[in-house]
Amino acid sequence: MPKAPKLAVWKFASCDGCQLTVLNLEDDLLALAGTVQIAHFLEASSAAVRGPYDVSLVEGSITTPHDAERIKEVRKASRMLITIGACATSGGIQALRNFRDVEEFTRIVYAKPEYIDTLEHSTAIADNVKVDFELRGCPIDKGQLVEVITAYLAGRKPTVRPHSVCVECKRRGTVCVMVARGEPCLGPVTQAGCGALCPSYARGCYGCFGPMESPNTASLSGRLIQLGVTRKNIARVFRTFNADAAAFREESDANDARA
Ligand code: SF4
Ligand code: SF4
Repeated sequence: MPKAPKLAVWKFASCDGCQLTVLNLEDDLLALAGTVQIAHFLEASSAAVRGPYDVSLVEGSITTPHDAERIKEVRKASRMLITIGACATSGGIQALRNFRDVEEFTRIVYAKPEYIDTLEHSTAIADNVKVDFELRGCPIDKGQLVEVITAYLAGRKPTVRPHSVCVECKRRGTVCVMVARGEPCLGPVTQAGCGALCPSYARGCYGCFGPMESPNTASLSGRLIQLGVTRKNIARVFRTFNADAAAFREESDANDARA
């Protein structure tokens, strides 16, 4: 009988929310456990099996010299490496440090800053090692996660559409909050996957799934200005969970410079 493929889940700088999404797969997780060997998943079990691994899911960003070395070991031990969530795909909310002096933060936050060994920037996993697929979200969506894992186990490309949250609004029949209510919304530039959750509750999207493929952020900024949002605040809305994703960082910097 052929051996079951080995699945590993790794944590770097993160809140564990994306790993919890794996645990929350419920019935799908049981089905998955029947198909693969969950070989390394310390959030679920301290019993770990040595690599190599067929598929590694990596949560979190690289923020310390130790993690910068550890991710290379994970890469070496993994046939496919999939990053999950805003921390792993863009540096996460902790990438707000990238816009400031990290030493100033450590002096303010820690009583003994000399014990802190940290990098100047929080970076995405793909800035450190080769990544086979990036799954966005803060946290990730269960349905997209199941699709990505099953696709890689079956040796095919995952079907995760690169369109915006706006398309999800249209699909579910949600009235556009920006057109109908003048509500600022990052939906036009944000990767789909959440099912347009926030607009379905009559509020704007704040971009937790990060930039979609080829987003027109400059055009959206122009519309936000027409709605009365200041340049300073536009810079701030692009600097949240995915502040260091290139498209959001460039748009926040452009607005900050003109504020
Ligand atoms: S509510 Fe936001 S996400 Fe939905 S269609 Fe309007 S702009 Fe797009
Ligand atoms: S609508 Fe936007 S902010 Fe809300 S869950 Fe979806 S991607 Fe995140």
